[in-house]
Amino acid sequence: MGQAPFDCLVIGGGVIGLAVAREVARKGRSVALLERRSEPGAEATAAAAGMLAAAAEAHSPGPFFDLARRSADLWPGWAEQLFEESGVDVEYQGCGLLRVTTSSEVVGDLEIRRAWQLAQGLEVSGLLGLEELRREVPQLGPDVVAGLHYPGVAHVHSHRVAEALALAARRAGVRLHLSAEVTGVRPSGDLLEVSVGAERHFAQRVVLATGCWGEPLLRGLGVSLRPEPVRGQMLALRPRGLPLPEIVFGDHGYVLQKRSGLVLAGATEERVGYLAETTLEGVAKLAAMARSLLPDLGPAEFSGAWAGLRPFLPSGPVIGPLPQDPRVMLALGHFRNGILLAPVTAQLLGEALADGQEPAGLTAFSPRHILGG
Ligand SMILES: Cc1cc2nc3c(=O)[nH]c(=O)nc-3n(C[C@H](O)[C@H](O)[C@H](O)COP(=O)(O)OP(=O)(O)OC[C@H]3O[C@@H](n4cnc5c(N)ncnc54)[C@H](O)[C@@H]3O)c2cc1C
Repeated sequence: MGQAPFDCLVIGGGVIGLAVAREVARKGRSVALLERRSEPGAEATAAAAGMLAAAAEAHSPGPFFDLARRSADLWPGWAEQLFEESGVDVEYQGCGLLRVTTSSEVVGDLEIRRAWQLAQGLEVSGLLGLEELRREVPQLGPDVVAGLHYPGVAHVHSHRVAEALALAARRAGVRLHLSAEVTGVRPSGDLLEVSVGAERHFAQRVVLATGCWGEPLLRGLGVSLRPEPVRGQMLALRPRGLPLPEIVFGDHGYVLQKRSGLVLAGATEERVGYLAETTLEGVAKLAAMARSLLPDLGPAEFSGAWAGLRPFLPSGPVIGPLPQDPRVMLALGHFRNGILLAPVTAQLLGEALADGQEPAGLTAFSPRHILGG
């Protein structure tokens, strides 16, 4: 290409890559982002419901819960900044969440969850019966046995998040290369060489934010991680009747309403390789789950269905420099929570890239910790 090397090249333009690229560019570094699709955020990011639900997603206290809470706390300010930088409203809605169950056997689990979350200082109600839960969401159906109320939980519009991040990243100086599939990353003297077919890009640092597709590049770098695709299907409905005031999160899925009125019912968890398709079985399961929680949705108009591939790693998210070459940073494995975790991932990786040090908040997620070395 004959151009000066970049300070940082980010591979992958999902929510994670976009957030990292914007953050690093805001620190005054020269950044390019390479995305193989013709638009940013078109993979898992576009499929997401946009819940920022640390309370419902973490199953025990520990580093993941701490990271998720820290990111949830960053989100309101992040949404405002993105609006200022891009003019795009990501529709941050701090509506609250009901974690409900339709099975009396799960009630004990909810009580255990409540106890550790209270001990961690999370705002959560006592265990509520159906009538109490209906004060928050009057449409709840008779199958619901009990639940917990989390007033602080929010959601955002994931497409708008990708749109806002791409505009904000460009405005911060990031060069966005679309339809650019990276085929190799290798050391080249003091720099790293990134190939897009016959084209070569050079940078001081490279961030791999390739969702569930990073394996060939990781293998080329001698890293044994293999992010696995876990398909999630989503059903979209145009309801009749009252608006849904909160997220309703059950044992087998969740239902929430976007500002446009669209109700999303998600999501399946399927290990079917790289098949990002919707199926009759998947959509039927989501419809049954949604009707069991909220029977009024029966006459809702079917508006569509889609699927995306979540990037799963058994160890959870892996974020930070590679032990064998700290110039290469990973931001992979955000699985069910990439939208929630984008602000904190960008913040911590931004610090790591700026200082060459691994921030304390990343220790539990660092490749050094997870891969050894
Ligand atoms: C149905 C569903 C519902 C979800 N709901 C939520 C939710 O409510 N809240 C939440 O926080 N999360 C949710 N998630 C999870 C969230 O979507 C993911 O965790 C997040 O999108 C992961 O972001 P990412 O940038 O790592 O991956 P992706 O969005 O998949 O982006 C990776 C990008 O890398 C690009 N790429 C890959 N290889 C290359 C290459 N070699 N060269 C160039 N580009 C490359 C891909 O084209 C892609 O655009 C949901 C996911 C699904 C599927």
